[in-house]
Amino acid sequence: MNVKHHLDEATLVSYAAGSMSQAMALVVACHIAMCPKCRERVKDSEAIGGMLLEGLQPAAIKGDALDSVLAALDNEPSVNAAIAPTEIHRDRAVDARSVPAPLQDYIGGSLDTVEWRTIVPGVYYHDLPCKSERGGVSRLLRIAPGKAMLPHSHDGNELTLILQGSFSDEVGRFTAGDIADLDGDIEHQPLVDSEVDCICLIATEAPLKFSTLLGKIVQPITGF
Ligand SMILES: [Zn+2]
Repeated sequence: MNVKHHLDEATLVSYAAGSMSQAMALVVACHIAMCPKCRERVKDSEAIGGMLLEGLQPAAIKGDALDSVLAALDNEPSVNAAIAPTEIHRDRAVDARSVPAPLQDYIGGSLDTVEWRTIVPGVYYHDLPCKSERGGVSRLLRIAPGKAMLPHSHDGNELTLILQGSFSDEVGRFTAGDIADLDGDIEHQPLVDSEVDCICLIATEAPLKFSTLLGKIVQPITGF
């Protein structure tokens, strides 16, 4: 597989630090499973994080510090519990046509058995249970050749990993294994340019902002 579009640095560091929502971490984990280059980058990022921790000077702490830490851990939302980075990037590489291992936990080993719901003819989705705190979602999207996703921008980051087929948008052309790592400033309208349906794994931090009337009409129905 020839991956051309990779994770940006901020996304990678956030993932390695475990400070990402479960929805976004799933997409990152799947790209890492498909991309040897980003697997190496995550390892480097984790190593740097470890060195920084080792370099910290010990500081005086209050007597009840342990109780406070334990209480904080109890209250910690378990957003990343299902997807620990160290678990994923070892021995979990896959070839282009397989479902990446982190996604297999949700849909099994084949894209052919996914149950799709229709948005409009030629555009289908399948919800995944991973959420993010600000109302974002993770889902599979399947778009027929020649069809376009509705033009939209975002309130936060959007990650799109291509599992099958290809699309082009204002940023470039994306094929299997590529990840589109977009921030809120970009408005784009992906157009499928492969002969087969394009299947993507998408996560958003917050609901998309549609710029067309149709987008605004279907948004309450699909929850995008
Ligand atoms: Zn990569």
